Amino acid sequence: ENRPSFLTILLFADPDFSTSETLPIIDPNVFHKRHLKMMRVLGEGHFGKVTLYLYDPANDGTGERVAVKALKQESGHVLDGWIKEIEILKSLDHSNIVKYKGCCTELGGQVVQLIMEYLPLGSLREYLPKRKVGLPQCLMFAQQICQGMDYLHTKRYVHRDLAARNVLVENDGLVKIGDFGLTKYIPEGEIYYRVREDGDSPVFWYAIECLKEGKFSFSSDIWSFGVTLYEVLTHCEPRRSPPAKYNELMDVGDVQMTAMVLIKLLERNRRLPCPNECPHEVKTIMEQCWSGDPAKRPTFESLTKAFQDIRQ
Ligand code: ADP
Ligand code: MG
Repeated sequence: ENRPSFLTILLFADPDFSTSETLPIIDPNVFHKRHLKMMRVLGEGHFGKVTLYLYDPANDGTGERVAVKALKQESGHVLDGWIKEIEILKSLDHSNIVKYKGCCTELGGQVVQLIMEYLPLGSLREYLPKRKVGLPQCLMFAQQICQGMDYLHTKRYVHRDLAARNVLVENDGLVKIGDFGLTKYIPEGEIYYRVREDGDSPVFWYAIECLKEGKFSFSSDIWSFGVTLYEVLTHCEPRRSPPAKYNELMDVGDVQMTAMVLIKLLERNRRLPCPNECPHEVKTIMEQCWSGDPAKRPTFESLTKAFQDIRQ
């Protein structure tokens, strides 16, 4: 009755047989499409669509809920960036960054879906307008975003799309950065990444040098953090959103808000207004994040400390 299993036989037959080659069968990172039961759509951006699924291999409703991100259309150029997004998320491990769980591949091995942990409260954009979030909780979220971003920068990645819509809420006391679709690696010794494509860009979150020269750096993420902080303090209310406010700042002569018009505004040192009831120290932080000179902006390390001090 004690017959050796097929795997044991293989191992005995070939001493050099690598067990890692058999791993995909039991790899916890491989999710099988047939066990994924769709529950509802969580959100959609330019390239991706995120859906809530129940991963239920036992097929009895006891499975776990996971967030599954898929590309909307799989054209070659986008597919490259997609594989990178998965690789980057896989390499990150921090309490303020959404956790990678695995992949779901179609027959033929092409990666199609990214499986990550499901954060039940959605992004700050869904969460904040509905709750009466006080200043202490806003500042706690701000500090957590800085902690996650500091970790990302230590790994030499620039996020390039930091905004309330890309910060996910686990519970009333914990937020995590998600969406690494535009994240780029900055090689040691270099200080910025220059974009070549001119696709859809979240211009109202962009630093002035990103708009003018397409230069993305650790400091341009700081600018976007300033805009994200503004969104948190205005509870992501649509009528006070960055696009809405910049529109109000527009000159009478300008009929339509364009990147050119925005650059003109920023060059005249016009900035988003300070949200009501924003403490003086926080106002100062926002102003520093939006300094026209990237070198004058703080780092996520110093910001984390600053929020710690303010919150005490
Ligand atoms: P895109 O790259 O298309 O912008 P995102 O990764 O930002 O895609 O996801 C789009 C939206 O889906 C988010 O703004 C958020 O509302 C929702 N979402 C994304 N990931 C999760 C998750 N892990 N848990 C819950 N909701 C999520
Ligand atoms: Mg997004």
